[in-house]
Amino acid sequence: MPVGVAINQEELKDVRAKFDELLKLMEFRLQDEDKANIEKAYEMAIEAHKFQRRKSGEPYIFHPIEVARICFQEIGLGPTAVICALLHDVVEDTPVSLNEILELFGPKVSIIVDGLTKLDGTYNIDTNDSPQAENFKKVLSTLVVDVRVVLIKMADRLHNLRTISAQPKHKQLKIAAETDFIYTPLAHRLGLYNIKTEFQDICLKITEPEVFQELSNKLSESDQARNEYIEQFISPLKAELTQLGAPFRVLGRCKAISSIYTKIKQSKVNFEEIYDIFAVRIIIDVPVEKEKSFCWQIYSIITDVYKPIPERLKDWITTPKGNGYESLHTTVIGPKGKYVEVQIRTERMDEIAEKGFAAHWKYKGIKKQENVYDNWLDNIREILDTKHTNALDFINDFKTNLFSEEVYVFTPKGDMRIIPKGATALDFAFEIHTDVGYHATAIKVNNKLVPMGYKLNNGDQVQVVTNKNQKPTEDWLKMVVTGKAKSKIRSAMKEERRKVGEYGKEALERKFKNLKLDFEDNVDIVTKQLGFKSRIDLFYGLSMDEVKMSDIKNYTIENGKIVFKKEEEDQLNKEAPIAEELRKIQRPAKANRSNILVNGEPADIYKYSLASCCNPVQGDDIFAYLTATAGLKIHRTNCSNAVQLLANYGYRVLKADWEDSVNSSFVVELLVTGIDSGPGVIQSLSNELSNKLGINIKSFSIEGKEGYFEGRIGIIVLNKDQLNMVVQSLEKMEGISSVVRTDRTFK
Ligand code: MN
Repeated sequence: MPVGVAINQEELKDVRAKFDELLKLMEFRLQDEDKANIEKAYEMAIEAHKFQRRKSGEPYIFHPIEVARICFQEIGLGPTAVICALLHDVVEDTPVSLNEILELFGPKVSIIVDGLTKLDGTYNIDTNDSPQAENFKKVLSTLVVDVRVVLIKMADRLHNLRTISAQPKHKQLKIAAETDFIYTPLAHRLGLYNIKTEFQDICLKITEPEVFQELSNKLSESDQARNEYIEQFISPLKAELTQLGAPFRVLGRCKAISSIYTKIKQSKVNFEEIYDIFAVRIIIDVPVEKEKSFCWQIYSIITDVYKPIPERLKDWITTPKGNGYESLHTTVIGPKGKYVEVQIRTERMDEIAEKGFAAHWKYKGIKKQENVYDNWLDNIREILDTKHTNALDFINDFKTNLFSEEVYVFTPKGDMRIIPKGATALDFAFEIHTDVGYHATAIKVNNKLVPMGYKLNNGDQVQVVTNKNQKPTEDWLKMVVTGKAKSKIRSAMKEERRKVGEYGKEALERKFKNLKLDFEDNVDIVTKQLGFKSRIDLFYGLSMDEVKMSDIKNYTIENGKIVFKKEEEDQLNKEAPIAEELRKIQRPAKANRSNILVNGEPADIYKYSLASCCNPVQGDDIFAYLTATAGLKIHRTNCSNAVQLLANYGYRVLKADWEDSVNSSFVVELLVTGIDSGPGVIQSLSNELSNKLGINIKSFSIEGKEGYFEGRIGIIVLNKDQLNMVVQSLEKMEGISSVVRTDRTFK
């Protein structure tokens, strides 16, 4: 913050006038004590900022006063927020300390001001995470402390955007990008529709100035014609609406320029072809208990005159949006055959729609969905608590879970659940309860079995069938989108890995016992030496033969601790032996060439085989791994062992490709689940496979579980395309809920 010329008497008068305007606005809500505190905050802010000026040259204090006004008038916040808004830049930019604020205004104000100060802090450039993601996390952590922090921050951002023309262009672009990334979606999620729209419009004006200008010209050119049309639309309705006996207003609301632009881009139409450039909004003032019936009466008045388009009816009154939005929307065919969207709502609903969160709290307690924000904040906490390996995962989880539109689905008992758009049947199972997710064997939507990865739609009724023997597998991760389901599946997989690792752990314990080594003292040394990230990974690796006991070599024992010879081992194990070992597994090439190339050469000049952990087929992405004793193994790059191998034994990995011209066949296993329709299942599956698709079945096992079955079918395919075709055909069969290629052939 540059230090400038101190504020002068003339300017002080303007500032005071501005502040008095704010007080006047708030008058009706202020107790004497609030008034005194706001006055104190004003005094403190004016003193603290007296040498500061904004880019435009005006005294800085105008900014906090304006932010306070936005908080009160445009967001609907109360006196505490106004005090915090006045002080929001004080700790950051001036000698005033947080302690002084605590002493003068108490803990509530100081916590919020502290949150606002932290939000403004500079990025931590030492982290590997993207600064944007870091900042985003920061915003969210303050949000769960006191949601007012974020609301005041919105007001701050809004004022900065409204006055952005004073900034140089490159700064404008940076601010626009950040607004787009963080603040616009948050404003949407908090139900601050007006602010969200203004954010988008200002950002568009910065990033695409010509487009913005053109569209805004077109809008004002068509202004008069539009107003006339709206008048024409309403006039036949007026008498009936008046007869309802409640005060009402009718507005013609124009779409924001940014959303017109989005529409033009998305549906590739031009300005003139957009039929819903404006919407007619009818707002009626009735007591809460009469809201619903009045709104539907208005709906009926309109549709008596104009023909409605049934599929465009949206009842956000019976089922409000997750951010609290309530309204009844319909589209009708108006005069001259034009489509007109009509929004029907009450004054209360309108205030919530315009101001969002804060207005919502004002009416708290009168609607059943009063806890939407509580739920939302709980969700944020949950995501913040989940350990994310990187910032991008975090952002992805966040965006799918909290910013996307919702879908409303129902349990068999008719309870409504709100899930993110795009969420699957399996996500729903985890939404109901973690255990239901873990043990889900089949899912029915509207009484029909669906694949676990089925994307749910509005109004779906979902029933999950569970079996206690069921457990999550790696494949499940591909069938869910919500952060909750993903993290639950991941932790179950980890648990599974731990169980498999028990065998490896015991073997290592025996080895240590023979060497008279203490287990706890040495296990981490060995883990590190063999290149594993954790003990669990080491035990798992030992169980799965990724590494062998004999790989623990070239060590001495000193004072009860195992010590590896470092340098020599590297020399010995890395470059030289690879060529040496490759030579050892060489064999005379056969006449018919191999269908795999290793380092560009036919693989059959070596001893090689397809890895049984992932059963690659022609068309999969693959690599070759030089094992200690079994020659080359060809793995899929998405094999669950691949990460481990690539990370720890990168030097033993060779490039492998498929040779298209050579035909071959591959065994894969499919896990098929569905309704148990008795012995007929085996019949119809084998009929589909052998007779219809001409596929050879190699193995077939099937197990019935409480009305459902799980079948494992080994089949022989030529390549990945054929495999995909088989999976798709089976999925379409009556009674089949999911078909998944397994990683491991059933033993
Ligand atoms: Mn500010």
